[in-house]
Amino acid sequence: MKKSYKLALALSISSLLIASCSSDSSENTDGKLSVIAAFYPIEFVVSAIGGDLVSIENMTPPGVEPHDLELTASQVTRLSQVDLLFSIKGFQPALDEAATQSPPGEVIDLLTIDGLNLLQATEDSDSHGDEEEGHSDEEEGHSDEEEGHGDEEMINDPHFWLDPKRLVVVANAVAAKFSAIDADNAQTYESNRSAFVEKLELLDQEYVTGLQSCERRMIVTSHAAFGYLASAYNLEQEAIAGLSPDAEPTPKRLNEISKEAKADGTTTIFFETLASPKLAKTLADDLKIKAAVLDPVEGVGEGQTYFSVMESNLSALRAALSCK
Ligand SMILES: [Zn+2]
Repeated sequence: MKKSYKLALALSISSLLIASCSSDSSENTDGKLSVIAAFYPIEFVVSAIGGDLVSIENMTPPGVEPHDLELTASQVTRLSQVDLLFSIKGFQPALDEAATQSPPGEVIDLLTIDGLNLLQATEDSDSHGDEEEGHSDEEEGHSDEEEGHGDEEMINDPHFWLDPKRLVVVANAVAAKFSAIDADNAQTYESNRSAFVEKLELLDQEYVTGLQSCERRMIVTSHAAFGYLASAYNLEQEAIAGLSPDAEPTPKRLNEISKEAKADGTTTIFFETLASPKLAKTLADDLKIKAAVLDPVEGVGEGQTYFSVMESNLSALRAALSCK
């Protein structure tokens, strides 16, 4: 009797030891590296590189606008059980907080990857705030009542995946990370990387060619997700909302966009599938022009991928800008 009790105790201690070791080690019990991706474009790049060697979960359920992510208690617990979390710090505050409470083996903030060449933007919806009345502080002493021109905080624009070349930089970094942790499979990660990068480079070429000669270069978007795309292909973005779809514009800002759209001869106001299209559609109605989808690829629908959505985006841009 006494003996079997001891045996049981020994077994439970050893299973505790195994459990605590496995959460420290770089691999799960099934031998695969376990990874959580914060939302779709991250899941897409991590899966492309990791293939079957990595077990990947997406923290943002389908149909959810990832900026607004809220986590369940079980999702928070799950975080502490995986080897790696790939996320974008500041993009999903709920996830940042959960990763502090319930830390995974390692957190990789994609914005810290070398060579990404991040763009800065204000959190305010008015992305051109500084150009105009940006120096009101000395003049009229009531700067706080207005939209705080001039003292807005500049933050890193997180939407780098909308420039395929920046996604190449991320793919390279993810491959280097997996190869460092799991050197035995380095060759597989490298061949996955190279096939993926080739596709991204083709996509980039299609954009370069497709947007080369267009009658207009201004795009009116729903939220300011297309800064990298605009910068990569020499377009100019006027966003209705800010870096987050929640950052709604002032009536003054809407009025400005409306004037600029008229002056430019804009044919289309773009809206999104996951965020509310209301403001974009109202603006299009007011201007008596079209509203069409330009998708920030923050999540995809059934059967879609980053590549298929980016192809649709290119067609939508070419139509709206009258490109040859
Ligand atoms: Zn966004």
